[in-house]
Amino acid sequence: MHLSEDHRAVQDAVRAYVRDRITPNAAAWDRECHFPREELRGLAELGCYGIAVPTEWDGAGLDYLSVSLILEEIAAGCGATSTIISVTNCPVNTIMMAFANDAQKERFLKPLARGELLGAFCLTEPHVGSEAGGLRTTARRETGQHGDEYVLNGVKQFITSGKNGDIAIVMAVTDKAAGKKGISAFLVPTNTPGYVVARIEQKMGQHASDTAQILFENCRIPAANLIGEEGQGLKIALSGLEGGRIGIASQAVGMARAAFEAAVHYAKERVAFAKPIFEHQAIQFKLADMATQIEAARQLIHHAASLKDAGQPCLKEAAMAKLFASEMAERVCSAAIQVFGGYGYTTDFPVERIYRDVRVCQIYEGTSEVQKILIGRAI
Ligand SMILES: Cc1cc2nc3c(=O)[nH]c(=O)nc-3n(C[C@H](O)[C@H](O)[C@H](O)COP(=O)(O)OP(=O)(O)OC[C@H]3O[C@@H](n4cnc5c(N)ncnc54)[C@H](O)[C@@H]3O)c2cc1C
Repeated sequence: MHLSEDHRAVQDAVRAYVRDRITPNAAAWDRECHFPREELRGLAELGCYGIAVPTEWDGAGLDYLSVSLILEEIAAGCGATSTIISVTNCPVNTIMMAFANDAQKERFLKPLARGELLGAFCLTEPHVGSEAGGLRTTARRETGQHGDEYVLNGVKQFITSGKNGDIAIVMAVTDKAAGKKGISAFLVPTNTPGYVVARIEQKMGQHASDTAQILFENCRIPAANLIGEEGQGLKIALSGLEGGRIGIASQAVGMARAAFEAAVHYAKERVAFAKPIFEHQAIQFKLADMATQIEAARQLIHHAASLKDAGQPCLKEAAMAKLFASEMAERVCSAAIQVFGGYGYTTDFPVERIYRDVRVCQIYEGTSEVQKILIGRAI
């Protein structure tokens, strides 16, 4: 896809920041499970916290193609950082833009878009991941000390930025008898009493991003923090995942690109059988396949993003992009390790970390199997 000058300018600005401030630190952050607070502030200054949020709500006022370009660039430097940015943009901002009222946008979306608040999205529970309609966390409406309130109780699992985030969108059951239509969406500041970070997961990769289990223990929030209407929660959650899938697919492409570029560089330097391994056709073919697959994934993503920007439905296209890009990225990162030989399996080179970081792209925001269910339904 031909990029406009504006899109190229966005890409160049983020690429330069990532090259200077993120890529050089990614290995250390991974090793030390360091949350990159300072560099996130730099990304906020570049508008990366509110990419598609209109300027009237203090966002960058860009489109979903820009979301994709930016997330690819950040992921090429650090997969974990791209996940943090991805979640706060979509689903969190996307949901706020579509369903929050003006008072909620004033109070939460504006500071989110300015990068003063970091968003988290609480859908998954210990017993329920793919089957989002089976949530058990409850929200009971009652009149408390501070007036009309909801009281949240339950457990959320695998929440990105559950610890370091400031504001969470939480899905909870308000009417058990109504089944999927009894779920509602709430804005919960993470400093609310009863919002408890129970544990931080020890993960295979993406160590710089915290993934938390959250307990809601009589967590009281004002009734004004209900997003949309009672019973709309599942629709709200799923609507946010469409943009989220474009984001995750873009992250996968960014990580695959970084592994590919490292492999090309190494192949030109490493000598075996009297010539750089790049000159062995088996290696060149591998790199040619990697480049082709990355580009194919990118085009699927840009197609889905352009549909979304045109206000057209893109559920199938976003699912296809996420499915293809995340599975492609694992293959490409594995091939990159192969190009590095034994060194690829060590922590001396970035491909080992990228391979670990990219694996989860096939799992979060809907597994590959769930994407196939969505595509299957659509066709
Ligand atoms: C690092 C990380 C960050 C995450 N961040 C967030 C977050 O910020 N917010 C959030 O809410 N969640 C988050 N998640 C959770 C993630 O979205 C879920 O793990 C994912 O949706 C899968 O749910 P599950 O783990 O319960 O697996 P399950 O739903 O139990 O699925 C297990 C396996 O069965 C398959 N399966 C399930 N149903 C079907 C079916 N009908 N047909 C075929 N196969 C099926 C799945 O594809 C999978 O392979 C995160 C997860 C990770 C690992």
